[in-house]
Amino acid sequence: MISEKMVGLVKNSSVIRAMFEEGKKMAAEFGRENVYDFSLGNPSVEPPEAVKKAIIEVAQDPDQNHIHGYMSNAGHDEVRSAIADNINRRFGTGFDASNIVMTVGAAGGMNVIFKTLLDPGDEVITFCPYFGEYKNYVSNYDAKLVEIEADTGSFQPKVEKLAGALTKRTKVVIINSPNNPTGVVYSRATLERIAAILEEKQKELGTSIYIVSDEPYRELAYDGVEVPYIPTIYRNTIVGYSFSKSLSLPGDRIGYLVIPSEIDDYKDIFAAAGVATRILGFVNAPSLAQLFVSKCLDASVDLEIYNRNRELLYNSLKSYGYECIKPEGAFYLFVKALEPDDKAFAARAKEKHLLLVPGSTFGCAGFVRIAYCVDYDMIRRALPAFEALAKEYKGE
Ligand code: PLP
Repeated sequence: MISEKMVGLVKNSSVIRAMFEEGKKMAAEFGRENVYDFSLGNPSVEPPEAVKKAIIEVAQDPDQNHIHGYMSNAGHDEVRSAIADNINRRFGTGFDASNIVMTVGAAGGMNVIFKTLLDPGDEVITFCPYFGEYKNYVSNYDAKLVEIEADTGSFQPKVEKLAGALTKRTKVVIINSPNNPTGVVYSRATLERIAAILEEKQKELGTSIYIVSDEPYRELAYDGVEVPYIPTIYRNTIVGYSFSKSLSLPGDRIGYLVIPSEIDDYKDIFAAAGVATRILGFVNAPSLAQLFVSKCLDASVDLEIYNRNRELLYNSLKSYGYECIKPEGAFYLFVKALEPDDKAFAARAKEKHLLLVPGSTFGCAGFVRIAYCVDYDMIRRALPAFEALAKEYKGE
């Protein structure tokens, strides 16, 4: 008999994953070229060549016990130093290895930091729409996810609702920019307003409120848009980074946390994050992946491929009458459903073999998410289906 808590979790298990599985079934039935699966954020661009070279280099290292052995729970020292140096060069910070904990992707990092910070009943704030897995990560530690409603005009966070949502139990505010599911990049002005509210509230309540900046899409930003580095804006910031999307390595499960020395209770938090890494069963992030990504810190996937997809899909959908914000980052479009019920709309889209994820999965009903980290040709083939769907709703 599985646990009661798991019964609920299994029942509400990821809609996105379910659609991904459904897509595979439909491909078998109708032929792969006739199914347009926009459900999963699985990178379609190949990892850069530097990754392959680095893997070979690491595999051939004469010190095989170092490559494959246990290490500090926080990860290899030289990897953490290389990452700290890279961040310092890019953002003018002053980190060293003692500020970096290697993690099993962003998901592993979020779980490590939540295990470190959260007591049962603590509150974690998230701005809608948000990555639905946050609900599960927070519930792993019996804390409560508090949603702040979406600004469906700009999809910037509704900052004016933040102060009212902060309580003595608020431990964390999650920021995810570039955002999944909207592709919106939070502006510096918005982040500065959030920082000012949190500073004031910390003083008023006498508590520490940490921003956890979930950054798997940091490197996926278009047209030179600035993605501000939040530790330089708000002192109590912990960053969760991942190489899943920046280097197209989601299966290798590698990322890191940045825990700045300036945050409240730094020493305890850094030490506890190492223990959390161990007792959650990760023990340490995968050694080989740590070592090869540390040689690819300046590499990146070819962003122009995603950009081409973004332009084609955005411009085409607009021309068919769909409403949507042009995303500045990540590889998602968040499109207004053509009827109020986003699930019903996604079901109608599925009849045309378009697999889209309902916005309610992200705490924002009335929209659907389209992941455009797919083949350009699949988008081209899917366009008539999008157009036919719009026409159907218009009664044409
Ligand atoms: N956070 C967000 C916003 C995501 O979109 C994802 C994955 O899609 C993750 C975290 C998890 O990423 P990772 O594969 O690095 O664990």
